[in-house]
This record gives sequence, structure tokens and C-alpha cells, in this order.
Amino acid sequence: MSDRRRFLKTTALGAALGPSLLEGCAPADPRTPSVSVRPVALSTWEHGLGANAAAWDILSRGGGALDAVEAGVRVPEADPSVTTVGYGGFPDRFGKVTLDACIMDETGRCGSVAFLQEIKHPISVARRVMEETPHVMLVGQGALDFAVAQGFERENLLTPEAEAAWLQWKETNGETLPRINIENHDTIGMLTLDQAGNLAGACTTSGAAFKYHGRVGDSPLIGAGLYVDNEVGGATSTGWGEAVIRAVGCFLVVEFMRQGYSPAAACEMAVDRVISKNPDWRDIQVGFLALDKNGQHGSFCIAPGFNYAIYTPEMENRLFDSGSRL
Ligand code: ASP
Repeated sequence: MSDRRRFLKTTALGAALGPSLLEGCAPADPRTPSVSVRPVALSTWEHGLGANAAAWDILSRGGGALDAVEAGVRVPEADPSVTTVGYGGFPDRFGKVTLDACIMDETGRCGSVAFLQEIKHPISVARRVMEETPHVMLVGQGALDFAVAQGFERENLLTPEAEAAWLQWKETNGETLPRINIENHDTIGMLTLDQAGNLAGACTTSGAAFKYHGRVGDSPLIGAGLYVDNEVGGATSTGWGEAVIRAVGCFLVVEFMRQGYSPAAACEMAVDRVISKNPDWRDIQVGFLALDKNGQHGSFCIAPGFNYAIYTPEMENRLFDSGSRL
């Protein structure tokens, strides 16, 4: 078991509540000017480093947050070694790779696709839904038909490695429901702040490994897996999507920031809300990552093991471990 997998493996036994950022924490006065950092690229997990580098190419030359966030998450989408996003993602219980993604810009426009098959870059299809249709979300065959009509190429996304993992899972588990899989939650969620001070966000995933056919998680749901409000900040999530959906997690994080809480405190409060809505919380992982309008960032998760990548003019693409409740 890798270190990260070991970290993600949580048990109820001996779990103690971790230190809280919130002790004695009153909301910051939203009028208090804080140091402004720009531009910023912020992404979940280690594969966020590659995403940040691609986004930085655009941001550092004065490009827009939306272009940067799309270019960023396309990197892990195309990387077959990332088994939780795009091409090479682990399939569902029937061996089908089905992808979910959404994108949101500084004006509140958003686009989303879910249960999309055979398209390597669901984030770009989500952007087209946002820009070319009057809708926010297309799913399944309709999303695929739209993508093809927009010129996206159909391709097989199931790599031999992902197929082998699926076959092994089938052999071990037969037809039984996969246990809540806390070891395969590495969605890329990304937030960018450009030099003009505009925010954008993107979230893209192959979802929970070996999920039910047709299952959609939090990642393509505006408000659950991603939310951006240009007056306040943005948030994205990773982990067991069902738990995030129950709390409308990312909208909640942004609303806490609107009340004046720091990104880190807002993420911690949203994790506590998830915990309060999910009695099985000790057996799952959920992590939030947030970026405010001033370029300040924060994160929090249930179990140790969630990390994220940040790129700013001062911090050149570094990985940080998130604080956790357990
Ligand atoms: N949140 C995603 C989902 O539930 C999984 C992940 O974060 O990797 O589909």
C-alpha cells in the first residue's frame, strides 16, 4: 500500500479529533484589507503540479483565469498514469470509463457534463456547454452527441492498466457493491486567479472507481464539487462525492468566506457540516480547497492524506498537506 493510500485508509479505532483552526476564530472583518496575491493557480492533489504549470503559462503572461483553469485540468485528463481523471481513469463496475466535469467563470457562467463516455477532455465539453448552449448541464448520450457535434473526437479511454485493475476488482469482489472506496478519490479540482483579479474554477474526474453504471458524484455539480463567486472566492472538493452533495459543500465554503471567514476556516467549517450530515464520516474522505478574491488560500479534510499544489509569484508550484479532522 502506498503512503498516500495508507493515509487515506481511515478507521474508527483510535481516531481522535484533530486540532481546530476555528478555536477562538471570529470571522475576519471583510473590510479589512489583506495582502493581495496574484496570479494564483491552486489544484487538488499532486497531479495538480502539472495542472498548475500549464495554467501558469497562461496566467503569467496576463491570460484569463478561465483559459488557465481549462488548460490546467486538461493535463491530468490526458495523463494515463492518473487513474482518477479522464483518459486512464478507472472504469465503473461494467468496465466503462464515465467522466464528470464542470467549469465556472468570473461572471457566474457555468457548464457541466456528467456520465460522459469516450471523450478525453470533458472539461472542454463543459466549457462548450457553457458558451454554446443556453444550458448548464448535459449528461450521458446527450452530452456525447453534443461533444461530437462540436468536433470532439471519440476515443477509447480504458487503458490496459485500468482494465487490469477492473478485472482484478471483479475477481475479488464478484458482483457485490464496491465498498465505499476511500482510496480512489483524486479528482482534480482547480481554482485560478488572474492578474486582472478574476477567478475561475474547474473540476474533472472519472469518479469513484467501480461505481454503479450511471453514478454521478459531486464533481460536475455546481455548488457541490465547485463554486466560484468573483466577489468572494471559489472552492472545489475531492473525496466521497455523495457526502459532499448532501452538504452542497463548495457553495457552503464560499458562503462562509462571504461571511468573512478565511479560506482555511471556511473549509474546516464545511468539513464539519459534512461530518454532521454523514454518520459514516470516519470511514470516508472529503477535502475542500478554497481561494479567495485576494489570492489567499486554505484547505481542510476529514482524514490525513489530502494534499494540494499552489503556484504564486512567491511560491513556485509547491505541494502542501491539508489539515484534517482525524
Ligand atoms: N469526488 C469524486 C466523486 O465522488 C471523487 C474524487 O474526488 O476523486 O466522484
